[in-house]
Amino acid sequence: MKVASVIVDVPSRQTDRPFDYWIPERWQGVIQPGMRVTVPFGARRLQGFVVDVKDHSDIKQLKPIEHVIDVVPVLNEELLDLGRYLTETTLCFAISAYQAMLPAAMRAKYEKTLRLTDEEKRGRLPDEVKPLFAGRTEAPWKEVEAAGLWRAAQKAVQQGVLEAVYKVKEKAGKKTVKHAALAIPSEQAKQELGSLPARQKEVLSFLLEKGKAASVAELQAVLGVSSAPLKALVDKGFVVLNDVEVYRDPYEHRTFQPSEPPALTQAQEAALAKIAASVRAGEHRTFLLYGVTGSGKTEVYMQAIDEALRQGKEAIVLVPEISLTPQMVERFKSRFGSKVAVLHSGLSVGEKYDEWRKIHRKEVQLVVGARSAVFAPFENLGMIIIDEEHETSYKQEEMPRYHARDVAIYRARRHSCPVVLGSATPSLETFARAAKGVYELLELPERVSRQGLPSVHVVDMREELRSGNRSMFSRRLLDELRRRLERGEQAVLFLNRRGYSTFVMCRGCGYVIRCPHCDISLTYHRAGERMKCHYCGHEEPLAPRCPSCGSEHIRFFGTGTQKVEEELTRLLPKARVIRMDVDTTGRKGAHEELLSRFAAKEADILLGTQMIAKGLDFPDVTLVGVLAADTMLHLPDFRAAEKTFQLLTQVSGRAGRHELPGEVIIQTYTPDHYSIELAARHDYRAFYQREMALRKAHGYPPYYYLTLITAAHEEAPAAAKAAEKIAAYLRKHLSHEAVVLGPVASPIARLHDRYRYQCMIKYKREPNLTAALKAVIDRYQADAAHGGVMVTIDTNPYMMM
Ligand code: ADP
Ligand code: ZN
Ligand code: ZN
Repeated sequence: MKVASVIVDVPSRQTDRPFDYWIPERWQGVIQPGMRVTVPFGARRLQGFVVDVKDHSDIKQLKPIEHVIDVVPVLNEELLDLGRYLTETTLCFAISAYQAMLPAAMRAKYEKTLRLTDEEKRGRLPDEVKPLFAGRTEAPWKEVEAAGLWRAAQKAVQQGVLEAVYKVKEKAGKKTVKHAALAIPSEQAKQELGSLPARQKEVLSFLLEKGKAASVAELQAVLGVSSAPLKALVDKGFVVLNDVEVYRDPYEHRTFQPSEPPALTQAQEAALAKIAASVRAGEHRTFLLYGVTGSGKTEVYMQAIDEALRQGKEAIVLVPEISLTPQMVERFKSRFGSKVAVLHSGLSVGEKYDEWRKIHRKEVQLVVGARSAVFAPFENLGMIIIDEEHETSYKQEEMPRYHARDVAIYRARRHSCPVVLGSATPSLETFARAAKGVYELLELPERVSRQGLPSVHVVDMREELRSGNRSMFSRRLLDELRRRLERGEQAVLFLNRRGYSTFVMCRGCGYVIRCPHCDISLTYHRAGERMKCHYCGHEEPLAPRCPSCGSEHIRFFGTGTQKVEEELTRLLPKARVIRMDVDTTGRKGAHEELLSRFAAKEADILLGTQMIAKGLDFPDVTLVGVLAADTMLHLPDFRAAEKTFQLLTQVSGRAGRHELPGEVIIQTYTPDHYSIELAARHDYRAFYQREMALRKAHGYPPYYYLTLITAAHEEAPAAAKAAEKIAAYLRKHLSHEAVVLGPVASPIARLHDRYRYQCMIKYKREPNLTAALKAVIDRYQADAAHGGVMVTIDTNPYMMM
């Protein structure tokens, strides 16, 4: 008997294991691990992933597999193993891990067809399948099934003669283009040439020479023929016309100038040599490419990729979603042309699926994409690059709660290839590993251009208030903006909205109210007008006066981009301003449009949030202004200083990247904070030392690992009680070395109508951790299904809210 182990599509703890089913005779040899099937489950029918095929099962009364969804595996052995690794390390359900690896188009129930990959391959169709494709290039899967042709169809797909395609219904509809192909063997076509009229002869020779189908548009453009000779050839049965689906290429209306690699600087050369050697040797290593903004990291990535491709291997480049700008894509497209697939959230479901298929069919060798591109189903990886490796968007905040860096290293180990982590401001975790020699440190200490790093001025906004300036613009920033307008240069203004309104700050002296026990800013809770520490639970009433200077100007912070824009146009009526925030970039393509308007110098000032901090490279930008550098500093998050330093460094990096020197003005209420001071001096190493000392003193990563457990329920007491029980259970079952903090109300105390309480585990080594956490999930999973307490566990938290 043949048995398949199946992970069914029910994300719950009870069903989070393989269930055995017997494989009916007609599918024996067809069903393989990595394929999806439908199985009976109780009274229901469920989809599931086959994770194993074996000869026997310990279960007696097995039910049969009911239906086969895929023609060939959609997950290979490596990805199946990766799923197991993710379930162990992030405590997710196996089904969640596997589904995260597939494009959304394949998760839903779409109609499926088999498609001839190339008219030329019609002759290679298995005989029993041929009739299904008579006079067409596509056959509905239903018909293949009805004819019982699984085995033959699977073989044809494996040989690349057929392709299984899931029909994604989109408003735009699928795009097809008429193609002409030879309908007779080429030998015969050559013989016919002599007897044809001139124009028909031209067309037929063109197709013979091309060796594959040509679009009718191409034929007409190249040969300058009307459709008459083509029609004549079709009538004679020498040529067939087919509707061929074209990929929905989001960049199709753009032309990319091919780019040649420039000669590298010495530092680039040295870094590349190390990486390339590792690619050639096929050895797994993790490199940290630490290079200041504009030092040419991207150029190093591209030449390293080139090496991998020359070795016949593939590469993945991960880029944070917000840096995946048209400019970035263009750089890769112009260097690698059609070898690149691009995956980002701006694509429609169908477009993403198209890009994924290009990878699956091995039509591309390089993927540039955001976080989930790390799952690209390549089978011969030569390297994985993570640009801006410090970005927290590499961590997924829903199940599976994976970090792309961990997945990249897992995959690279498996493929025996290097990982390159690049950043101007590496995360503390990464730099610490490089310092210990776990990663290999490669440095690019200088900018490529003749201009050095921009000069940075820190403006003390408390002084501005004292001297009567109540505006959100300092006098210095306004002066510099005016100067840019006069000179016809451009400026970027950055407003960091993340973290607004949560902390309580004195406008008179910049004092921020912090927890006496945790050195974390207190969070303002409107309910009861209180300030709370969400780490240890300390709370106190909202202060009416500043505890430091007695001023009454104490309040929670809040300003939007719109308000800034209004004030800007009032102060500088002549300035042309482009505002970029969630409101102005909601429409598809709006982001790109605003940037190209700025690039075309249709505006003097680009004003925006996070989304303008990265990746932008405009030659005429000589001034960057940061309106409120502290907003993030006071988030209730132990990474607040690190994030502030990174952001200020990134934003400053936008200025003076080319011929003109750049200048940066940072406005802040806390000019003495080390993250601001050291960012202004471009001193990453000093920041690293300083921050590491604090992390050590307070027991945070990278010295300790953290796990965050949140309990949520509609009734606050129920959530609190569950969190208490969990904390008590963990204290009992974990070793003395692990510290369990809390429970306390979460900073976002109510979400989706549920009250939230959380506890935090700090540990260095904790052998009982996974078992204890699994026990917690077991205990509460059944509850959650019946409206009880919902428990989530994050084994590597980045969002402390
Ligand atoms: P980073 O990724 O470190 O910010 P980039 O790779 O974007 O740096 O390089 C900054 C600028 O310098 C880009 O405009 C890039 O085209 C250019 N550049 C990079 N390397 C070289 C080189 N070796 N010679 C000339 N220009 C280079
Ligand atoms: Zn506290
Ligand atoms: Zn004060």
